[in-house]
Amino acid sequence: MTLEKKMKLLIGTNNQNKVREIKEILDREFPRKFVILTPADVLDNQINIEETGKTLEENAYLKSSEFYSLTKIPSISDDTGLEIEALKGEPGVNSARYSGEHSNDAENRKKVLNLLNGNPVEKRKARFRTVICYVEEGKTEYIEGICSGRIIEEERGTSGFGYDSIFVPDGYVKTFAEMTAEEKNILSHRGKAVRNLVEFLKTL
Ligand code: IMP
Repeated sequence: MTLEKKMKLLIGTNNQNKVREIKEILDREFPRKFVILTPADVLDNQINIEETGKTLEENAYLKSSEFYSLTKIPSISDDTGLEIEALKGEPGVNSARYSGEHSNDAENRKKVLNLLNGNPVEKRKARFRTVICYVEEGKTEYIEGICSGRIIEEERGTSGFGYDSIFVPDGYVKTFAEMTAEEKNILSHRGKAVRNLVEFLKTL
């Protein structure tokens, strides 16, 4: 029997949707290489880090560097934005708060649909962009994943979260919210970013 020493990796987020998506991919790619930890596994109190950065990169760094300094465990954090061409890249870094500081996903989707109301299909281009920041002692790395597609006119589907029910990836008919988690993982910005992260982790 080979005794493999597993590498600890902290997913620096309190969002269980993200933990599930990232863990699924890492577990499949590296079944024995990593012990995937969440903040609840290693910290007594829940840490909420304010996303005050002006870019996805700044926000991802703010979170992973804070978790690394608290735990000394190599940490990854991500930030995702929906970038809509006709809205000059909005909501972008403000995706979570698009219709106000305390807005929820449904209100944010409604705002996007209202702003694009009447736009023909060619003016509904959008992409999700995820930036993952990996931080360990003396090393900071940024890893990206992009999924291009379009915003449809009315919500469809009930799985997923955020803007999933109004986004159809290029080459597909279903929205992210009409797909299974596995289908979404193959195509999604976060899926791509995590696979790029896996390639990076292989080099450590
Ligand atoms: P965060 O970076 O994950 O905090 O995401 C910022 C905003 O984008 C939040 O409103 C999320 O709901 C939304 N978002 C993030 N990832 C996804 C996704 O995979 N699908 C749909 N919306 C997402």
